[in-house]
Amino acid sequence: MEIGKMYVNGEWILARGNGTREIMNPANGEVIKIVTEATAEDAEAAIETARRTFDSGIWSQLRPEERAMFLYKIADEIERSKEELAQLETLNNGKPLGEAISDVETAADAFRYYAGLTRTAFGETFDSSLDSIVVKQAVGVCALIVPWNFPLQMAAWKLAPCLAAGNVAVFKPAEITPLTAIKLFEIIEKVQLPKGVCNLVLGSGQVIGDIMTSHHEVDKVSFTGGTETGKKVMTNALRTMKKVTLELGGKSPIVVFPDTDLEKTAEYILFAIFLGAGQICSAGSRLIVHESIAFELTSLLVKHTQKIVVGNGLDTGVQMGPVSSIQHMHKVLAMIERAKEDGAVLLTGGNRINKVSLDKGYFIEPTIFSVEDNQIEIVQEEVFGPVLTIQTFKDEAEAICLANSTKFGLAGAVFTKGFSRAMRMSKHIRSGTVWINKYHSVNNQLPWGGFNQSGFGRDLGKDALNEYLETKVIQMNLSDSALGFYDSFK
Ligand code: NAD
Repeated sequence: MEIGKMYVNGEWILARGNGTREIMNPANGEVIKIVTEATAEDAEAAIETARRTFDSGIWSQLRPEERAMFLYKIADEIERSKEELAQLETLNNGKPLGEAISDVETAADAFRYYAGLTRTAFGETFDSSLDSIVVKQAVGVCALIVPWNFPLQMAAWKLAPCLAAGNVAVFKPAEITPLTAIKLFEIIEKVQLPKGVCNLVLGSGQVIGDIMTSHHEVDKVSFTGGTETGKKVMTNALRTMKKVTLELGGKSPIVVFPDTDLEKTAEYILFAIFLGAGQICSAGSRLIVHESIAFELTSLLVKHTQKIVVGNGLDTGVQMGPVSSIQHMHKVLAMIERAKEDGAVLLTGGNRINKVSLDKGYFIEPTIFSVEDNQIEIVQEEVFGPVLTIQTFKDEAEAICLANSTKFGLAGAVFTKGFSRAMRMSKHIRSGTVWINKYHSVNNQLPWGGFNQSGFGRDLGKDALNEYLETKVIQMNLSDSALGFYDSFK
């Protein structure tokens, strides 16, 4: 099997020391690829390459329309490779093929969107009395680190605005899902992006992630991953005062009022929690439902959950795939066990799926708990798996209180036909996104990020471009008169 390589300074290279890592298919536990595993020295070398490339101005000094052309070409090539990329994503991450295809389309669109934004003038000019201009400049060398749940899409969300703004990148995919990133860098090579502008390193967070977030030649870190890892990233970045964007975990509430169509709402709730087998940062993992409809809605949810088709994402008709790794499966199953010990009532699911066709993969039954104690782990901590909790409320104030009762604040949703109530709730829910009567709708044009311990800064939209730009004021003296500060000079 050919070893998957890193891409640094326009060359495909193996890591020093020849370390490797087996990449698995979570649907059957088989090894699908072996990739090189970077050492700390490899990460340092990639960062130094990026530094030299940035300082040469080869990318930041290009005209915006030239940078945009590269991004358009990358988008075109992603689309041309749509089937191959989607198959790879499903093989490596486990998600159903339809979801993987949608991720590839979103990735191509992100490159197109930021190609367009490249051509908007960054900065402002001030009137004659100030004689000043405000210019926006690339930050410099950016360390981009992403998780395993949306490997290609997250790569595009980071790389597209980073490159559009004129920066250079050292990119690290999650160690267990590097395959679509390797393909993306083949595309980057194919469109002949100048060497050294975009560098791919493969390896563990503890070793190379640590270097990427602490190295003095890195100017900016954009990180997506768990909240605890985000805290380490921030601590590392602090030492040299890097700019930081953190997209972290979530525990998003779905608040349902009685004036909704229960069948339609039930479908959205299942989509909110079981899409991606619950491994989505914004998964709607806490249902908060009005007590008057709780029994009816819960019954509907349990009935439909038991019909969800779980299986290999490459098989037709599959609606939910495995979780990403054996370690993660055991983590989720342990949280389910602790939830039972904490008094949560299991309504459906709760086990690894052992039927013969799936027993080698990391499949967990879609699971629902009914919960009374708001403080227990299953309500307060991110599971990142197919587990929904159901709680009830009496009035709007209690619903808001429960919705805002965790340390997270990434997303949330409210289901009601009342316009004023929907808007009131949206203002009160403390999160970066609130959906009204819908879920999981994300657009490349709209900023994405969290409140509280879900992080800060934003991916996507114009906000993300700004995350990759520095602001500089240039003031001019247009008069011929002397300064006149030192009277003694007269
Ligand atoms: P993780 O934090 O374990 O890893 C994320 C990335 O960080 C990986 O590439 C990993 O190798 C790297 N990493 C690990 N330790 C590091 C360190 N010490 N220094 C630097 N990098 C390090 O997260 P995960 O398990 O891969 O992903 C799941 C998490 O990501 C969930 O908490 C989820 O909510 C979050 N997430 C957030 C968003 C968002 O937009 N807010 C989107 C997707 C996923």
